[in-house]
Amino acid sequence: KNFDSPVGAGRYEISFSDIGGQFSAIHELREALDFIKNHQSIRSLGIRPLKGILLTGPPGTGKTLMAKAAASYTDAVFIAASGSEFIEMYAGVGAQRVRKLFQTARDSAPRQKKNYALIFIDEIEILGGKRGQTTSHLEYDQTLNQLLVEIDGLKVDDNVRILLVAATNRSDMLDPALMRPGRFDRIVKVDLPDKDGRLEILKIHTRNKPLAEDVKLNVIARETFGFSGAHLESLANEAAILAMREKSSVIKQHHFNESIDKVMMGGKLDKRPSE
Ligand code: ATP
Repeated sequence: KNFDSPVGAGRYEISFSDIGGQFSAIHELREALDFIKNHQSIRSLGIRPLKGILLTGPPGTGKTLMAKAAASYTDAVFIAASGSEFIEMYAGVGAQRVRKLFQTARDSAPRQKKNYALIFIDEIEILGGKRGQTTSHLEYDQTLNQLLVEIDGLKVDDNVRILLVAATNRSDMLDPALMRPGRFDRIVKVDLPDKDGRLEILKIHTRNKPLAEDVKLNVIARETFGFSGAHLESLANEAAILAMREKSSVIKQHHFNESIDKVMMGGKLDKRPSE
């Protein structure tokens, strides 16, 4: 696997303003990033430098968006990987991929004239599950051990500062070694959005869509209890498709209403309770 491929080094310019309804998660993440950016003053207070940030929460709530926004905020090269890419049958392959991921980060930042590289590992529980529980496989242990070695080797005064951000919706499965101080010691919860959050997300995803005057985004936000950001994005898209089918030049409220049911069935959401 070549981490320098399009999956890897980033041309993503997502900012925190593209993320709706995650006020406290964004606040905490930004604070952690400020720690990293101002490491001199942090050091003078004797605060231990932060290496890893773990984003936890249900699927589709914006964890990947947050990692991308974190990369833009710190002007870092964005390198993405998924936990499943490291699981291999052959001894040493997973560990070698972990080494390669960090090496790619160190190499690609100077090429893009950046001082920071942000490594994002989605589904970290696949790579960093509890040892001896998920599987007793030796190869798996080697892979996780290599990740721990890489994390422990990161220094604030390295030429390329590497920030680690990982995401999971099963933080209970993670090996405690990963959560030790000096590793993923900042945990940011990214929950399903509440009504106001859903409204913000709907505004973001209808920003460049023509809406009819009868569209009431606040009503849609109220009607979509349990929807994630990904569901709401899909809802806005479905509504636009319905409008097109009807040859309407604007998206109307009834297009949204019909799409709510469709997204709910597709996404296997529970029956819609009101909030
Ligand atoms: P997974 O756990 O499945 O990887 P995730 O939490 O990483 O999910 P994202 O990949 O960030 O979720 O979100 C998927 C898509 O859903 C985004 O590209 C975006 O269009 C939309 N989305 C999700 N959350 C938000 C949000 N808070 N604000 C705006 N859009 C969102």
